[in-house]
Amino acid sequence: MRYFPIFIDTKELHCLVVGAGEVAARKIELLLKSDARITVVAPWACDTVLGFVQQQQITLINRKFQDSDLNNKDMVFVATDDGHINAEIHALATQQKILVNVVDNTPLCKFITPSIIDRSPIVIAMSSGGVAPVLLRYLRQKLESVIPKKVARLGKFSEKFRETVKQRLSSVTARRYFWEDVLDGPVAEQIYNDNPDQAEAMFETLLDSHGEQKTQGEVYLVGAGPGDPDLLTFKALRLMQKADVVVYDRLVSKDILELVRRDAEKIYVGKAKSKHTLPQHEINDLLAREALKGNRVVRLKGGDPFIFGRGGEEIETLVKHNVRFQVVPGVTAAAGAASYAGIPLTHRDHAQSVVFATGHLKDESIDLDWPALVQNNQTIVFYMGLTGLPIICKKLIEHGMPSDMPIAMVESATMEHQRVVTGTLSTIESIASAANIKPPALIIVGTVVSLRDTLNWYQQEHSPSV
Ligand code: SAH
Repeated sequence: MRYFPIFIDTKELHCLVVGAGEVAARKIELLLKSDARITVVAPWACDTVLGFVQQQQITLINRKFQDSDLNNKDMVFVATDDGHINAEIHALATQQKILVNVVDNTPLCKFITPSIIDRSPIVIAMSSGGVAPVLLRYLRQKLESVIPKKVARLGKFSEKFRETVKQRLSSVTARRYFWEDVLDGPVAEQIYNDNPDQAEAMFETLLDSHGEQKTQGEVYLVGAGPGDPDLLTFKALRLMQKADVVVYDRLVSKDILELVRRDAEKIYVGKAKSKHTLPQHEINDLLAREALKGNRVVRLKGGDPFIFGRGGEEIETLVKHNVRFQVVPGVTAAAGAASYAGIPLTHRDHAQSVVFATGHLKDESIDLDWPALVQNNQTIVFYMGLTGLPIICKKLIEHGMPSDMPIAMVESATMEHQRVVTGTLSTIESIASAANIKPPALIIVGTVVSLRDTLNWYQQEHSPSV
């Protein structure tokens, strides 16, 4: 982040603008939204600037810039059409440690002005550091459309009652829960509908009820999907942003963790195969303990919590401790890998059923009903099967599956670094080891795998096909 965003208090700020053409006028217009004192120096001024002078909003000094104009200024905008003068003023201001911005000349700017969405007291400032102005405008339009204009009213309402709430609710968490209820519920609706009296009455009632209740914790068992953050559900995202504590393991991608409420405490509980950081029963207890302290605990799990996720065990402990919980489904790895590898798990010409099985090795064997797996027109997806791959292939062949049955391995499905290798039951072992396939990886067995040749759409350019 080369440009660090900050908001400057303009109450005592004295700002100089050099130049008084239309470019300068646009900066002055922005500055006029603030409390800054504005002095403009220029031998000539456009009508817009003259208008500001007439309305006594700015002071205009009608002459060329002199060095002494910088005296006692905190900030200077330079907007003349003479490149030499602009550079000179930049050098002078820099020497005197005055914040300087030469308009439309980023190399001569100590600070740059962001694109602003103004819903005062809520102000959103965005910048691309000058490198992607069109993208910035596009994002700004998107934001404008999701942040209602009337948000400003909510901001003013919060300002008015901030102290009252502080006095009535002593803990920071209680206050946060209360404000979330205000902003997410009927009080906000009344504010948006311009019914301030009703809003205030409802606000009072809500505040009374919050004052009485002890904050009750809750656990959200959230499926985070296979890795691509775009595959999160709306509900998952909403609850992640409410969390006080987040308990996550290795399968949850960094990009997804970024979306958790910034102030939430993040607890890593491992779960890499054979190096469990915390045993399962301790994870179960941790969830209950944090919720009983009054926290909103998000238990983030890769994929779907109820598919090879031990989600059931975690909530059984919660039931025992009388802790409230919710379960949020996620896109399971099989669904994510299949879509992003271009392998439909069922297809009228290939498979009428699909089985999800665990390929987890225990004592050098995999405890599965092999005859049930080896069926015509059935796709099998193995989770946790990387180490057990040779045994999986051997057992399937032993139970009658043709050794040239297509098989795919999808590593880091849906992520930027996804890799897919395909082969047959007899060749995949050497193909996977030559490609050095690493966890997390999923195995898909069945003739549907052959469809990838025509249906692959993701990372066509650089996907390594072996
Ligand atoms: N609850 C998870 C599964 C957990 S079991 C879900 O619904 O997806 C862990 C196994 O899931 C891994 O060994 C791997 O086989 C598979 N897996 C999870 N995420 C994956 C990913 N992004 N790419 C490939 N396989 C993945």
